[in-house]
Amino acid sequence: MRLSRYFLPVLKENPAEAQIVSHRYMLRAGMIKQQQAGIYSWLPLGYRVLRNIERIVHEEQQRAGHIPVLMPTMQPADLWRESGRYDAYGPEMLRIRDRHERDMLFGPTNEEMITDIFRAHVESYKQLPMTLYQIQWKFRDEVRPRFGVMRGREFLMKDGYNFDLSYEDAMHAYNRHMVSYLRTYERMGLQAIPMRADSGPIGGDDTHEFLVLASTGESEVFYDSAITDLSFGNREVDFDDRAGLEAIVREWTTPYARTDETHDVSLFHEIPAERQKSSRGIEVGQIFYFGTKYSEPMGAMVTTPDGGRVPVHMGSHGIGVSRLAGAIIEASHDEKGIIWPEGVTPFPVGIVNLKQGDGATDAACEGIEKALLAKGLEPLYDDREDRAGAKFATMDLIGLPWRITVGPRGLASGKVELTSRRTGESEEMSPEAAVARVAEIYAGV
Ligand code: ATP
Ligand code: MG
Repeated sequence: MRLSRYFLPVLKENPAEAQIVSHRYMLRAGMIKQQQAGIYSWLPLGYRVLRNIERIVHEEQQRAGHIPVLMPTMQPADLWRESGRYDAYGPEMLRIRDRHERDMLFGPTNEEMITDIFRAHVESYKQLPMTLYQIQWKFRDEVRPRFGVMRGREFLMKDGYNFDLSYEDAMHAYNRHMVSYLRTYERMGLQAIPMRADSGPIGGDDTHEFLVLASTGESEVFYDSAITDLSFGNREVDFDDRAGLEAIVREWTTPYARTDETHDVSLFHEIPAERQKSSRGIEVGQIFYFGTKYSEPMGAMVTTPDGGRVPVHMGSHGIGVSRLAGAIIEASHDEKGIIWPEGVTPFPVGIVNLKQGDGATDAACEGIEKALLAKGLEPLYDDREDRAGAKFATMDLIGLPWRITVGPRGLASGKVELTSRRTGESEEMSPEAAVARVAEIYAGV
C-alpha cells in the first residue's frame, strides 16, 4: 500500500476526550472515529487490525473443532420471553419496535437464538458434541461507555455455544475453549490469564474470565506471580484428548488467580509472600458452563442412547474482539505510539523513502515493495514528499513492528536499514537481506 494513496487520518494533537493510552493512540493513528457515545467507525488502519484479530479467533476456534455460523443482530423479543430474560435483562438491552408493532431487540448476546437453531435441527445425541460460534456485533446500552472501543455500546464479540449430552461432555467443551483461548491470546502477543470468576446470582456454575494485566483495566485482580511464567507456545494439541486438555487446564488453573468478585484472602495468603500480586486487569474473554438453563425452558432436547430424552448441557464462551484492539495497545506501546505484535499488525513492515523523487531511491523502495509482495507480505510504503522526521514519527505512532529505511547515502554502498519498532535497534544490510529477514520473521507468525 502506498501511503500517498491510502486513507490514514493521523492527528497531531492529543484528543481531549481520550483518558487512556489505547484510546488516545487509536484516535491519533486514524484507526477509529467515534460516531456516537460508544459507537465507532473502523477506519482503514483499525479495520485491518480488527480483521487480523478476527482471523486469529476463527483459526483457533476451528482448530478446536468449533463451527462458524452467523446470526442476525436483530432478534425477536418472543425468543427472550421463552427464557424469561426479556424482562430480567436491564436497560442495557436496546429494545426496538418494528412497523408492525412487533417487539425486537439488538442482541446483547445470543443464547436464546442459538438454542432456537439447535432445537429446530438437532434431535439425537448422535449429533453431539457440537459447538457453534460466530463473530458478530452486539449492542449493550452501557451506562458509562468509555475508553474507546474497550467499553463500547456497539462492539464485536466472538460468542460460541457448546451443546453436549452430559456434564462431563460439557466440561470437555469448557476445556477445549480454555485451551483454544490460551493460544488465541498468545498469537496476539498478549498474556491473558484465566481467572476464576463469579457465576452470578445462581452460583455453582463454572466460569473463568481471561484478563490482561494493565493499570487501566477495570477489574481488580489477585494472582500468584508463578502464573505469569507460563506460556502456551507452539504445542501440538489433540482437542479430542480429554486427559491431555485437562492437564493443560490444570497447569493454568492451579496457581491462584482470581478477580475481586471471587477473591479469597486466606487462600491468597497461602502463596509465598513474594509471589502475591495484585493489579488491574482488562477482561478480554470469558468461558461459562451453565447446564440446562436455556435448553430446559426452551425445549432443546436430545434422545439418549437408552431411548430417553434430555435437555442438552450448554455453555457460552466469549471473546471481546473489538476490545482486544484496545487491550493490545494498552499492553504494547511507548511514548511515541503503538507497538503492534507481529500477529495483529495492520502491515507487517513499513518502507520509508528518505528522498522521494530521487530516481535510485524510488526504484530501490519499489523493488523492496515488490519483493515483499511476492512473499505475501504487504508493506506500507511512505512515498509522500515529507521530511524524514515526520515520516518516522508517523511510522512510530502507527506502530508497525518493522521499518525499512531507504536513502541515497546508504544505497551508495548498497545498504538499507532495518529497524525494530520494539527495541529501536537498526541494522544495515542489502535490500535483499532486509526482505529475507522480514519474511523469516513472519514465517513463524
Ligand atoms: P464486562 O464485565 O466488561 O461488562 P461482560 O462480562 O458483561 O463484560 P461478556 O458477556 O462476558 O461481557 O462478553 C464477552 C466479552 O465481550 C467480554 O469478556 C469482553 O471482552 C467483551 N465485552 C463485553 N462488554 C463489552 C463492551 N461494552 N465493549 C467492548 N467489549 C465488551
Ligand atoms: Mg464477562
